[in-house]
Amino acid sequence: MLVNATNMLLKARDGHYAVGQFNINNLEWTKSILLTAQELNSPVILGVSEGAGKYMTGFKTVAAMVKAMDESLGITVPVALHLDHGTYEGAKACVAAGFTSIMFDGSHYDIEENVAKTTELVALAHDHGLSIEAEVGSIGGEEDGVVGMGEIADPAQCAMIAGLGIDFLAAGIGNIHGKYPANWKGLDFDALDKIHGATNNIPLVLHGGTGIPEDMIKKAISLGVSKINVNTECQLSFADATRKYIEAGKDLQGKGFDPRKLLAPGAEAIKATVREKIELFGSANKA
Ligand SMILES: [Zn+2]
Repeated sequence: MLVNATNMLLKARDGHYAVGQFNINNLEWTKSILLTAQELNSPVILGVSEGAGKYMTGFKTVAAMVKAMDESLGITVPVALHLDHGTYEGAKACVAAGFTSIMFDGSHYDIEENVAKTTELVALAHDHGLSIEAEVGSIGGEEDGVVGMGEIADPAQCAMIAGLGIDFLAAGIGNIHGKYPANWKGLDFDALDKIHGATNNIPLVLHGGTGIPEDMIKKAISLGVSKINVNTECQLSFADATRKYIEAGKDLQGKGFDPRKLLAPGAEAIKATVREKIELFGSANKA
């Protein structure tokens, strides 16, 4: 059932668990995530980056596929289709395409411009029944081979952005996208606590969920994190299972080259990763 993410995240906040956002890249990804959420009776958020949207030929294609698949599979758990790290233009395009949720990432603008653009997009999103996420403090990650450490968001700026009427807030607390480097210092719980205290109990979002130790995930949830983004981990498990299939020579046996066979181990691996995360985040049976 396609819905916006507002209610599922308010319920998660009040129930002290988190809803997983799993990014999609194609049909197999989408199907694996939807089936696993349904099996575990969990709400779920399908994340679509601007790059993945482009790869799938545009946000309209993505929205049409997700809507049709949700119906065809008889999915009854709440599913939000969410733009991940949207630009100003991308956010507008997703509203028009039929997404149910958007993130506007204005973290690279100065705070005045982030405020102005977020304000405009909050009105647009809410007029169309979508939920909206905004970001303060950039999330680190690999760019041109250099792994940037995440910024720690300023609680006063978080309060300012949260006060604009957004539905959930991504705040940098030392989390980064992609694999965590060996010298990573961990999440800054002191900062998280201050941000939570300054933002009127708004559901908080933890980006870069791949590779954060379980105890840190649980502590983050206890401090107000209600949405956790997972992207790289599904990519790693898909690639690993696909590599094993090919290394075992299975694509050369019988009709093992059939894409429905070739992609099956990867799709199953995504399911296993999503299942593990839903159980860790505590959202199973919360649909
Ligand atoms: Zn992110």
